Amino acid sequence: LTDMSKSFKLSFSLQAKMSRPVQARRLEGIDKNIWVEFVKLAATYSKVNLGQGFPDFPAPDFLTEAFTRALGGGNHMLHQYTRAFGHPPLVKVLAQFFEKLLGRDLDPMTNVMVTVGAYQALFCCFQALVDEGDEVIIIEPFFDCYEPMVKMAGGTPVFVPLRPNPPKDGKLMSSADWQLDPAELASKFSERTKAIVLNSPNNPLGKVFSRGELGLIAELCVKHDVLCISDEVYEWLVYDGKQHIRIASLQGMWDRTVIVGSAGKTFSATGWKVGWVVGPNRLLQHLRTVHQNSVYHCATIAQEAVAQGFQRELMLYGKPESYFVQLPRELQQKRDWLVQSLDGVGMKPIVPEGTYFLVADISQFKSDVPDVPNSDEPYDYRFAKWMVKNKGLAAIPLSAFYSEAHKNNYTNFIRFCFAKEEATLKAANDILQKWKQEKTSS
Ligand code: PMP
Repeated sequence: LTDMSKSFKLSFSLQAKMSRPVQARRLEGIDKNIWVEFVKLAATYSKVNLGQGFPDFPAPDFLTEAFTRALGGGNHMLHQYTRAFGHPPLVKVLAQFFEKLLGRDLDPMTNVMVTVGAYQALFCCFQALVDEGDEVIIIEPFFDCYEPMVKMAGGTPVFVPLRPNPPKDGKLMSSADWQLDPAELASKFSERTKAIVLNSPNNPLGKVFSRGELGLIAELCVKHDVLCISDEVYEWLVYDGKQHIRIASLQGMWDRTVIVGSAGKTFSATGWKVGWVVGPNRLLQHLRTVHQNSVYHCATIAQEAVAQGFQRELMLYGKPESYFVQLPRELQQKRDWLVQSLDGVGMKPIVPEGTYFLVADISQFKSDVPDVPNSDEPYDYRFAKWMVKNKGLAAIPLSAFYSEAHKNNYTNFIRFCFAKEEATLKAANDILQKWKQEKTSS
């Protein structure tokens, strides 16, 4: 090659390089994140933050004491790496616990894996189980990260909505009034479907799927050979004597289900970021491949403390002293309190059967926050931003939990988190009451 043609070749390839995007194409359209945006708004403007889902009350003493013991207790090896797929005491006790819940024998080394929160557990599930061209069914409204995670794995999300059926007797709506249309659900399953994501109790509605609803999903999974990624991070937060039913315990489902959980939600310690996956080895072996090539180890001391928390809970299982019995009892009171407060000012709440979230209808407050016609921003985003800036109260717009195509059908609701101290809930009530008075007197 002559010098001239060499330099021509070089500049041609440089040009081609410069015109290609710096980011991977699979990130296209998934750069926005509701939490990044609203956490910043809440930090800047809120006096009362009922936005992001975390408790503002302390984690239980037995748990924080276990952490302190692990930190200073003389076992210096707890400051080093532990087993990559989960600290042995934690996977052992999780296996024992889930044996009880699922009524089947579990191997701690192959049926349980510890992750950095439920987020990483979900990421492992999608990366390990979803291939290019696969479809994944997501039930709307949904915890927002499912959609970008499916896309990052090369899959295509297929959405099916929970449809609201308002009660006719003037009663408050319940999360149970939001239901799947069985024919519509069935129509989403095809030979391309690889998995369905189930989140019961559901964030944001608080819906706890009934045995009948789970049976329908299970039947379709078995019929079409589809996997189930079952996000059960709120499994202990169920109210009014309702029962959380694990889809993995239904006929034909164990072999095709991965259960995702989180100590953050279970023990009110979201900052510890200890999560897990429980499931059959035929699925978990592939999650381990993703984990060992990305995160590999999770924080040892946090796992040790969570293991001790579970040992305590195993001993007290079902007893009144159990944290898993006490926490939902306390949260149910908080739910009732916020329901009353919102109902009292006309921001109609949808009473949740589970989780620590509550969705409320903002229709009666719309006159205070003008809509902007032809705006790209859904109305509830505008409303939630206005509310935090002008009233100091932070909440999350419901349409953030919908796909782009369906966002505009659900712009009259916002989500509140009620895992808060009484004083915080009272401060929220004060803001709402004052706002209502200003509305009626103007
Ligand atoms: N799944 C759902 C339904 C959630 O609400 C959350 C947290 N808000 C997560 C997963 C992530 O949990 P973690 O903090 O343990 O990563």
